[in-house]
Amino acid sequence: MLKENLEAVEKRVEEACARAGRKREDVTLIAVSKTKPVPALREIMDCGIVDFGENKVQEMCGKMEEITEPLHWHLIGHLQRNKVKYIVDKAYMIHSVDSLRLAQEIQKEAEKQDVTCQVLIEINIGGEESKDGIPGEEAIPLIREIAQLSRVQVKGLMTIAPPVPQPEDARGYFKEMRKLFEAVKAEQIPGVEMKELSMGMTGDFEVAIEEGATMVRVGTAIFGERQYAAQV
Ligand SMILES: *Cc1c(COP(=O)(O)O)cnc(C)c1O
Repeated sequence: MLKENLEAVEKRVEEACARAGRKREDVTLIAVSKTKPVPALREIMDCGIVDFGENKVQEMCGKMEEITEPLHWHLIGHLQRNKVKYIVDKAYMIHSVDSLRLAQEIQKEAEKQDVTCQVLIEINIGGEESKDGIPGEEAIPLIREIAQLSRVQVKGLMTIAPPVPQPEDARGYFKEMRKLFEAVKAEQIPGVEMKELSMGMTGDFEVAIEEGATMVRVGTAIFGERQYAAQV
């Protein structure tokens, strides 16, 4: 069942790449497995996927204990500073860095554990009050500061586009992200490698690929709807 879902997503990724004149290998498909049990992840691993996205530190660490195969674990959700120590050596990439204080905490823990950590800067491209991430205009100044931290390697930008009725309606946000990505790249900040543009989810990943995403984070289309425990 999940295999068929993944195949359908893969086909849509390929077609979006073709429409945009991009190579398939230039886009990483991250399977967002939050709330899903380990056997579901294994099913997707067995299809050859190595990139998994989780939004909670504790859940990610728990799954990593059970799944010891070498995978790329992406932390895509908000990261509290007091949780950095648990994942700084384990996450392949942290997609949600949006403050200097958080980056400094990553630096501190990475030094302690003698590792380096790849991060993306989260941008609140829709300017939504409820969302994490920084406004686009703060990206370059923040990245300049983070670039001073030897253990924190900025690899690009991430965004969650605002919810829109039609995927096409998200295109403007993705275009803006691409422009910002190019603007940061043009700054040629020493130690900063602008390589990844993480944008696009189940509702809008094809448009994101057409606009230059190098990483798409797809959960529902692969694993099905998520069941959250009822709020008490
Ligand atoms: C849950 C989540 C996704 C995946 O969302 P779907 O709509 O299920 O594809 C992508 N990115 C982030 C940051 C998420 O929290």
